[in-house]
Amino acid sequence: MRAMVLTAPNTPFQMRDFADPVAGQGEVVAKVLACGAGLTIQHLRAGRLKVDYPRIIGHEITAEIVEVGENVSNLKIGDGVTAYYYLTCGSCRWCKADRETLCENLTGNVGRDVDGGYAEFIKLPANSFIKLPEGLDYKAHPAEVGVVTDAVATPLKLINRSRIKPGETVAVIGAGGGLGLNMVAVAAWAKADIIAVDVRPEKFAACYEAGAQLSLDASDGDLTAALLDSTDGQGADVIIDFVADKKTLEASVQALGKGGRLAILGGGGLPNNFPILGNWIKNGEREILGSRYATRREVGHALDLVANGELWPIVTETCRLEEAEELHKRLEDGLVTGRAAIRVG
Ligand SMILES: [Zn+2]
Repeated sequence: MRAMVLTAPNTPFQMRDFADPVAGQGEVVAKVLACGAGLTIQHLRAGRLKVDYPRIIGHEITAEIVEVGENVSNLKIGDGVTAYYYLTCGSCRWCKADRETLCENLTGNVGRDVDGGYAEFIKLPANSFIKLPEGLDYKAHPAEVGVVTDAVATPLKLINRSRIKPGETVAVIGAGGGLGLNMVAVAAWAKADIIAVDVRPEKFAACYEAGAQLSLDASDGDLTAALLDSTDGQGADVIIDFVADKKTLEASVQALGKGGRLAILGGGGLPNNFPILGNWIKNGEREILGSRYATRREVGHALDLVANGELWPIVTETCRLEEAEELHKRLEDGLVTGRAAIRVG
């Protein structure tokens, strides 16, 4: 099979021929039709996240089962599938409680610790594949269906986790990115009033199209004041921070209203002077939430919502597998609005 492979940190992808994968016991091989190209995997390409080389990256796949190993009963040849990003044990207390992102025996991620979707075929343990629902025309829309497992499921989890209600004001920081733009769309589906925050105003047209009511350029002036201004001084009900650096977290804390929920994804951790005061949390009954990826149940829910037409994933551009290097250069430079995807099969 052909695959775009990483051979060292921050070096270009190389197109190479590999032997086709063969399904061992408990494993399944699928033919890849498309694979999402997001910032998480660009961190791998850039060498900011560690992997063992050579490695084939990519986890937001649409694929079709072509071989089923021994002791696999839940999948058959011809099934349309996507992948669950985390490699979980399925048996610890967190996995059993539908909170697999906290798995005690996590062994890594698809496309990071095992080879992923920038290839013609992908081999994974059977339980890493999620069967696509009937009625989801994945052959007609492989790029859109592929990104549901992360770019739609992660926002859907945030709707649940931060308990977003119709009419609440939700500020999305990093709204022009792949997760951010889909977050705007999912929050619009949840009937929230959305403030799109980004440092690249050329991405705001896409944010409005996805359902935002207002946009704020975080590179221009005081973000805290702008957020307070746009909420009549009340602060936002919910702030979802996909950037989570010192500047955005400090603004988020100062512009989170009473009863507000701040959800933190991404970022390299809290700055030392993260100004959280006990009284600020207590008196305003505010909540600060960590959130990572989504549960299997949430991925399934996201796929069902897409299958029945309630939600549609936003993929802003696609390219061929051999064009991955060029696309990733633009991802690194922040030039891709929303989520891109690679067409493979
Ligand atoms: Zn587990």
